[in-house]
Amino acid sequence: MHIPFVSFEPMHKEIENEILSKFKEVYEKNWFIQGQEVEKFEEEFAEFCEAKYCIGCGNGLDALYLILRGYDIKEGDEVIVSSNTYIATALAVSYTGAKPVFVEPDINIYNINPRLIEKAITTKTKAIMAVHLYGQPANMDEINSIAKKYNLKVIEDSAQAHGALYKGKKVGGLGDASGFSFYPGKNLGALGDAGAVVTNDKELADKIRAIANYGSDKKYHHIYKGTNSRLDEVQAAFLRIKLRNLNKWNKERRKIAYKYIDGINNTKIIKPVEVDYARHVWHLFVVRTKNRDEFQKYLNDNGIGTTIHYPIPMHMQGAYEDLKISKGTLPIAEKIADEVMSLPVWYGMKDEEINYVIEKINNY
Ligand SMILES: *Cc1c(COP(=O)(O)O)cnc(C)c1O
Repeated sequence: MHIPFVSFEPMHKEIENEILSKFKEVYEKNWFIQGQEVEKFEEEFAEFCEAKYCIGCGNGLDALYLILRGYDIKEGDEVIVSSNTYIATALAVSYTGAKPVFVEPDINIYNINPRLIEKAITTKTKAIMAVHLYGQPANMDEINSIAKKYNLKVIEDSAQAHGALYKGKKVGGLGDASGFSFYPGKNLGALGDAGAVVTNDKELADKIRAIANYGSDKKYHHIYKGTNSRLDEVQAAFLRIKLRNLNKWNKERRKIAYKYIDGINNTKIIKPVEVDYARHVWHLFVVRTKNRDEFQKYLNDNGIGTTIHYPIPMHMQGAYEDLKISKGTLPIAEKIADEVMSLPVWYGMKDEEINYVIEKINNY
């Protein structure tokens, strides 16, 4: 049997006719930037996130960057980031000129450990990036209460967690602002690059809308040294179709994840946990094991595609040499990078495929 790490085919087959006719509609309208599709998607996605405002933008990295810019975070400032995340979270901070300060995650949950945040706060700290990694919300109450105590902004990186719940509430409106990515492989993916900011902060929303559009608040007037990061009509139109299916697709991911959790009983493999405050959307199903590379080769030899999220922690990347954080300084992030591996979890996986993965893992 061959099971790819990810396949868009079953998902895209189901919406093919809708996508193609929508494309024709947008194509014939000849209106490609800042039109009705974007406007409607922004309304619908804000509603989905139980938040007031949504501003479409070019990608997830831009969404995070725009939020930081919107809050005037700049050179000389510090922003707290989990040491276990995709590098985009830290790069968004670096783009503003501010410094990312890494705080270790909880080894069982993989998200930032709120108990370690306070020690990392200095007089320069302006914000905390709360990443909902792999699809499970970070511990927002604890993060928000520390932020309140030190007057910091809380920025959610929701790029892997569209539709996830924290204590029954959707991610996106849990902090001051939230950045989403619609990279094709995310739970809600465009057919190309796309992203959005979601927030309940009206002032921030207005400012970001301007910054993302050349700093312009009205035609010919540029009040910020802005950038160009806009969601386009074609992608917004596709995203609207996909958003209507997202709950169904997330449900299917949960079903697969729980089949894995119930079925995998190999003691060499550490399974992920869903914490009691969370409704996990399983963007990734991440297991851990000591001899990860050997385990990955074994699954690959058996036709099972896997990926590592992520093999090199940010502080060990060439891009962050300047921070001079030596190996061993962030042991939990390093351990995670050495041991994690993501199993296939995608809409349309058949029971026999899920059972095959479980069987091969249990025979390892
Ligand atoms: C994908 C991702 C991003 C960046 O999104 P892009 O659309 O690829 O720029 C940011 N943070 C996390 C956690 C991600 O997984």
